[in-house]
This record gives sequence, C-alpha cells and structure tokens, in this order.
Amino acid sequence: MSVNYSQIDGVGIIIIDSPPVNAVGYTVRQGLLECLNLGLSDVHAHALMIACAGNTFCAGSDINEFGKQRKPPNLRDVINDIENSSKPIVVVIQGTAFGGGFELSLGCHYRIATTDAKVGLPEVKLGLLPGAGGTQRLPHLTGARKALEMITTGNSISAKDALEFGIIDELCEPGGEYQAGLDYAKQLIENKTLPSKRVSKIKLDSKGDDLPDIFNNFRKKIKASTPHLFSPFKCVDAIEAAYKVPFVEGLEYERNLFNECLESTQSKGLIHAFFSERKASKLLSQAQISTRPQVKAVGVIGAGTMGTGIVMTFANAGIPVVLKETTSEALDRGMDTIQHTYERSVQKGRLTKRQMDDLMASVVPTLSYHDLGQLDLIIEAAYEDMDIKKTIFSELDSICKPGTILASNTSTLSVDAIASVTNRPSDVIGLHFFSPAHIMKLLEVVTGTETSPDVIRTAMELGKRIKKVPVSVGNCYGFVGNRMLHRRNAEAITLVSEGALPQQVDRVLTEFGFPMGPFAMSDLAGLDVGYRIRQGRRKNGEDIPLTWLDKVVELGRHGQKNGAGVYHYKDRTRTPHFDPIVDELISQYRAESEIQPRSISDKEIIERCLYIMINEGARILEEKIANRPSDIDVIWIYGYGFPRHLGGPMFWADQIGLNTICDRLESFQRTDGGVQYNCSPLLRALANESRCFNDLPDMIGC
Ligand code: NAD
Repeated sequence: MSVNYSQIDGVGIIIIDSPPVNAVGYTVRQGLLECLNLGLSDVHAHALMIACAGNTFCAGSDINEFGKQRKPPNLRDVINDIENSSKPIVVVIQGTAFGGGFELSLGCHYRIATTDAKVGLPEVKLGLLPGAGGTQRLPHLTGARKALEMITTGNSISAKDALEFGIIDELCEPGGEYQAGLDYAKQLIENKTLPSKRVSKIKLDSKGDDLPDIFNNFRKKIKASTPHLFSPFKCVDAIEAAYKVPFVEGLEYERNLFNECLESTQSKGLIHAFFSERKASKLLSQAQISTRPQVKAVGVIGAGTMGTGIVMTFANAGIPVVLKETTSEALDRGMDTIQHTYERSVQKGRLTKRQMDDLMASVVPTLSYHDLGQLDLIIEAAYEDMDIKKTIFSELDSICKPGTILASNTSTLSVDAIASVTNRPSDVIGLHFFSPAHIMKLLEVVTGTETSPDVIRTAMELGKRIKKVPVSVGNCYGFVGNRMLHRRNAEAITLVSEGALPQQVDRVLTEFGFPMGPFAMSDLAGLDVGYRIRQGRRKNGEDIPLTWLDKVVELGRHGQKNGAGVYHYKDRTRTPHFDPIVDELISQYRAESEIQPRSISDKEIIERCLYIMINEGARILEEKIANRPSDIDVIWIYGYGFPRHLGGPMFWADQIGLNTICDRLESFQRTDGGVQYNCSPLLRALANESRCFNDLPDMIGC
C-alpha cells in the first residue's frame, strides 16, 4: 500500500510510503483519499496528521505519468477534500516538498517542517504552472510578491525562510518530525482547535505591495529576462486571478492555464530537456561495469583559462587538487586568478572568508611532475597542441601510479593520438569542460578506442559528483559540440561573405533564443584561437579557404581581449559595437572574391545556420559518436546555450519535420553546389520514412 492509516492517542495518522520520493502518483492520490475517509469516519481520531516514510516528503509529481492521461482522482480534488476536512490536519515535511507535494501541504491546515527541509513549486521549469491550487493558495500565506517570486522562477526556499514567509507554522529538528507532528496534533485536540486555518479562507493581503502594479512589474521583469518563455506569464496571470475572482473560479482558471501550458511546444521542449538530461548520464550496460576506486585527489596541468576553472570545480566539490605549471610566473598568475574569483564570491556574500581560505588551502601549486605521481586523476589543460600534449602524457605515464586516470581537456584533438604515447591507453580519456569551467555545466566525456569501460563509468560518476552534466561521446575532431559548432560558424561566415552583416546574423540567432550570436561568441572566446586551429589544419594540407574573418584576425583584432574583433569594444567593456573598419574589410573581401552581395533574409540565416548543424548531428549519430539524439540536445543546451524551451537542436528538428530540413538543405545545394548541404544518409532515410530522430532506439550507436 502506498498510503496507510493508523490511530494513536486520538490522532489519525496517514503515512505516504511510496519510494523512492513519495511522488504524488495515482496510487498515492487514491490512497490519500481512502485514508482521509478512514480518518474522518474514525470516531477515536480528533485530528489527523499526514507524513511521509523515508527521507523525503512528496518530492513532486510522478514522472511516469508525464504526457499520459492521468487516472482519477486528480490531485486538485484530493487537496480540496483535505482542506475541507472537518478534522484539523497537520502535515510534516522532511527533505523536499516540491510541486504537487508542496501543493498537498498547502491543502493541510498546519505545516511543520524540519530545519533542513526545502519547499518549492518548480513547474515553470518544465513550461508549466502549479495545477493543483498552488497559484491560488500560496498568496494567501505569503502575499503576492513572494508567491510571484517562487512560482515564476520555480526556485525552492529553505524551511527557515518558509517559516518567515508564513508558509510553515513550526520548525523541528531533522529526525524529530514524526513526534513533532504528533505533539502538534495532540495540542490541537487538547485546545479543541477546529480546522479554522484553511489556507484558501485566509484573507488575501498585499503585504505592502501596490496591486495591480506588482503583477505588471513582474510581467515587465519576465519580459526583460526570459522574453521567449510563455509559462512565467501564465503563472502571473494565475496568481493575479487569486486576487480578482472567488477561490473556486481561481482554481478553474489555474486549471485552464495549466492545460494551455501543457499543450504548448515550449513545455514539450522543456520536458524533453529534463528527461534527456537524466538519460544522458546513463551508460548502456552500467550494471555490468565496475568503477575505479573513488577519485580522492586530482592533478590539473596548465593554470590558464581552463585549468584554473577546472581546479575551482574540484575544490568546490571538496576534492583536493595539485596544480602544475611550467614556470613560477604562470603558476602565480593561475593561483591569483583562483584567489580573485573566490574573493569576488566573498564580496558578493556567496562564500565566507573562512570558506575561501579552506578552498585555497585545498589547492597545491607545483612545478614538479613528481607531486602528481600518487593522484587518482590528472586532467591536462595545456595549450591545444598535439606535440605538447604528447610530451605531457608520456611524462605522466612514467610518473603516475598504476590505475591513475589520465584525462585531456582538449577541445578538438584526438584522444587516441594522445593515448598512443602511453603504455596505458585504456586509462586515457577526454574530459572536455566548457569555459568558464567552474560555471558551465556540460562535461563531454570522450571515449578513446581503447578507453576501458570502468574508466568511462568512473568519469561519468565523477562528473555528477562535481555537479556537471556528463555526456559520454566518441572520439572525432571536435567531438559532438564543437564539431557541430564549427559547421554553424563556418556557415555564418559564408552568409556574411554572401551579403549578410555579422550583426544581422548575431541578431537573428539571439532572437531565436541563443544567449549570443556566433560572432559575439567568437569575440568572447578569442578570434585568435580559431585562427590558430584553422592555420594548423591548413598547414596539414586541409582545404580551408581564407575568409574575411581570418583577415579580421590578421589586422590584430583578437576579440574582447584586446578591445576589437568582429565588433569594437569601447573602454574594454563587453558591449559589442558595430565597427565600420570591419564593414569595409568585408566589402573589400567580397570585391576581391568577385562576390556580388545580395540581401539575405532572417529566415535563410536560421535555416542555413541550424539545418547544417542538425545535418552534422545526424552524421555524428551515424558514426556512433553520440549515443542518442537526446544526448546531442543536452550538449547543445548546457554547452552552447541552445534555447532549452526548444528542446535542443535534434528535438527542434523533429518539430520542424526532417523532410522540410532535407528539402531545404538540398535546395541550398542546388543553388550553391556546396557539399556541406549534402543530406546525411540517416537524415535522408528518416525523412523519407516520415520519421523523427526521437523515433531512433536509445543507444543507437552502442
Ligand atoms: P591557456 O592558454 O589559457 O592556458 C594554457 C596553460 O597551460 C598556460 O598557462 C601554459 O603556461 C600552460 N602550459 C603549457 N604547457 C604546459 C606544460 N607542459 N605543463 C604545464 N603547463 C603548461 O589555454 P586554455 O584556454 O586554458 O586551454 C587549455 C586547453 O583546454 C586546450 O587544450 C584547449 O583547447 C582546451 N579548451 C579550451 C576552452 C576555452 O574556451 N578556452 C574550452 C574547452 C577546452
């Protein structure tokens, strides 16, 4: 049974016991109704208590019911019955009360929570809104502002804050919640308290805010921060309704808005992103693969942009790090960067001085390889140069204890070629962090031909431990993310050669929902980085034509770092400004290349930049470099800011229709003749069969 009823000392006790997280699925809803009726008809029970077995209160909806018709009773009706109970009901919260779980607690008359508990309504993160009365009841306790903050951001709050905002009636120590609930209920019986504290009956209070201004101000705020999203606005509408119409009508209005959100493509995209992330960290035969002993100490080679970010990632996760450089100047510079970053966190109140000192003490700088010999994992983040990486890895091979995992943070180079200089290629792996490494969530775990399964699994689990989103990928130039990015960026450069302006391309892609356009992003990363990679490939005989962007770099414009790149940055700020010098250079380039510029529509920019990327994604699947289309979506959402509400490039492609994408690519090929528009056989085959990427079986490549 998911819900059980018993009676002690006059208190009817309803225990939800539905592991692992007591989600409010069908059996819990049904069980709650049955036990409520038992409690109401139990002549010996004068008050009721609802509690959960295990480590947490109801942590949300049952995700197995997502996208399916839910069996009655619906949660809204169950909560209404609880609120209307003729006997007072106390609820005790431990762990987390999220979504439907928190709404359930709002239907109860008194809430007790452990001091370490958290409550929240995260539905907006899935493009939804709380649909079981949360938008209507919460303002009765907190006033409009707090309810708006919690519901439109979906962020949870601590039980201590919840007490301050009037959501929780009493706190108790963790582990003592059952007894605290029982005592509270007995007190109610002793005082002959009736269930007078029905949340929906508490007088709505503006708590000092002007109504209706507060709602319009929130709408403005949302428009400025997440203009593409639909459900935060619906959340505001629902909360406003609580102030405008009777409670029962408000519930109906909330339900209609919930259904509107549920049917939106945005919510489908966000739900896809949520499930894709969970899936990405799972390996095909995880159960059969062992792990290496837990990684307890890590070495990082190179104290540059990436090395310092990687060091902070591990230090923040409580894993001590040895940082190795070649010169004391470079080492000092790296340690200074780390110190400054932590100092800024102290200034912003995110860290205490003591915590900063502890973090700094967990990082040991060194110039000697010998200090790396006994560590469990080494991550190399030196220059992107194969010869340098090979020298480092053969040194590591000779110095590190057996079983140490040797990883490279290379963004494009072959993990197999790096591993080939060691006598332990099965211990070598790619761990591709993204910049800034202590902030960006994505971690591409790059498997070489000889990487052993236990090393892959250990790396994936470590990725989660350091709070990243790890995705297992195969070894090829640029792996998954950068390989697709290079395609998109090359197309953006071609579009400008043909007649578009860099600022037009950037505008179109930011309007699509990317945080930055390709040229602003290249300026941020440093134009010289890409230039050096292209020059290297040209030197190796690859046919990569010199573009107008190469000419920008040859003028000494390296991007934000020296105040000028594709754009101009006044006074070293980060705001890009159009620069007539670059405009002139582009015109000159077109004239020299005998290109007659034409006007290019925004639609063509989207289609060419994104369809070409999707085509590359299909090739990546064919080559088994990615395990699933949804892994590519996760990589693009977490590594490159692909708009989450569109679900990632492969999910978005499915919504457009693969036939449309193939036809467009082929039409570009006819007008331009470029091989880059050749449809990948997988994309073509799916399109011919009117199928989607999403129809492919999981683990297509494994
Ligand atoms: P960087 O130039 O900022 O730093 C490289 C550091 O490595 C320098 O401090 C240098 O002194 C040090 N170094 C060079 N050889 C060394 C050696 N033999 N031993 C110890 N230290 C040595 O470079 P970065 O941007 O941090 O990139 C490092 C690696 O990370 C590259 O492989 C790069 O492709 C990859 N990467 C970079 C980014 C990015 O956005 N910058 C993103 C992902 C991956």
